[in-house]
Amino acid sequence: MDTTPNKPSKNKFQRPRGTYDILPKDFKYFDKILTVCQKQAHFYGFKRIETPIFENIDIFNRGVGEATDIVEKQMFILKNGAQGLALRPEATASIVRAYIENGMTNLSRPVKLWAFGPFFRHEKPQAGRFRQFWQIDFETIGRNSPVIDAQIIQFFFSLLTRLGLKKLVVGLNSIGCAKCHSRYLKILKLFLRSRQTNLCPNCKRRLKTNPLRILDCKKEKCQEIVATAPQILDSLCKKCRANFKEVLELLDSLNIPYRLDPFLVRGLDYYNRTVFEIFLDQEKDGQKSQIALVGGGRYDNLISALGGIPTPACGGAAGVERIINVLKEQEIVPPEEKKPNVFLAQLGETAKPRALNLFEEFRKANILIAEDFSRDSLKAQLGRADRLGIKYVLILGQKEVIENQIILRNMETKEQKTLKLDQIIKEIKKILNK
Ligand code: AMP
Repeated sequence: MDTTPNKPSKNKFQRPRGTYDILPKDFKYFDKILTVCQKQAHFYGFKRIETPIFENIDIFNRGVGEATDIVEKQMFILKNGAQGLALRPEATASIVRAYIENGMTNLSRPVKLWAFGPFFRHEKPQAGRFRQFWQIDFETIGRNSPVIDAQIIQFFFSLLTRLGLKKLVVGLNSIGCAKCHSRYLKILKLFLRSRQTNLCPNCKRRLKTNPLRILDCKKEKCQEIVATAPQILDSLCKKCRANFKEVLELLDSLNIPYRLDPFLVRGLDYYNRTVFEIFLDQEKDGQKSQIALVGGGRYDNLISALGGIPTPACGGAAGVERIINVLKEQEIVPPEEKKPNVFLAQLGETAKPRALNLFEEFRKANILIAEDFSRDSLKAQLGRADRLGIKYVLILGQKEVIENQIILRNMETKEQKTLKLDQIIKEIKKILNK
């Protein structure tokens, strides 16, 4: 995707920073991803849901967490009289709001939902990071078994594999339950306080507001400190430990490659126990790198935090632009849409309405046909058919309409023959072997 701002031009109207236009040439990638998602969702029993692109800001404050980067720094807040609304920065909190509001609590569990749409974060635009980006979300609500965690991971892994992606690996961690969490926070704070002079200014502040976020800091100095920090896995209670072990055993049995990442905590407050990301390992000019394509985890406390009955849940989100970038880099090109083999040319005032009508008859017969009805010259219409690489042109003039005839021209041999107008669909079907 091209994120660079338009080249300076006389036109002062340019797309906003961090956004891009989805041009016709890129839609085949979106269509391909959507088609694979639909098939995969149907197979796994997920039902589609779409929520508004803006929501009451409290849903994100309470759901995602006020001290998270997404809410604190990246939310687009709407000002024009619509106080208290924000463009959605992620899907899970909105889906949970819809789940509660629409009485889905009464549905048989687990309730499996999926969504495909745009999200908004006021980030610093860079490669693979946009201010408006598309995500695919899959959520399983109502069960707390580790098999659900493994199945969500399996689902995304299989989705990416089905799209043709290789060299995928799951990054995995458990951040435990509330008890493990508070035990770990104490240990982590103690450790970080003893080194706080070396932390970046942002992390010094985070030490008070949200110390877990320090584990995600990209600054070299902070990363050096984090590398020797105590790990949350050592603070897990017996139940959380057993739960995580089961997730790992299930992934082993599914042959899904994973690596434990003790400092993967994810940027949102609602997670507990299993958290994961799916990366694609890349090597360019001898440089190894990883692209995060999917992020997700368990969120057993979000539904009650948003006013619902306490209900366990697990889910994840994949970034569409990043998947498309990889598809392009790996030269995995989705097939083009079918092209028409027939062109309908018209000449004269009586022919025009009949041609419009005939065009619709072809649609009903499910035969693709091209046209250029706004042109009156036959030469121009034949030229267009030629540029489109179309073999058969039907020519309908005033005389033909009156005599119930139509001319069929073979653009390769230049041969022409006259056929009956009211039989033409049948004749074309025969020619195209339909
Ligand atoms: P998150 O919602 O932050 O867990 O992100 C899930 C996935 O969405 C990531 O792994 C990325 O593939 C994608 N993603 C997140 N933020 C952006 C962004 N600003 N631009 C493009 N893709 C993004």
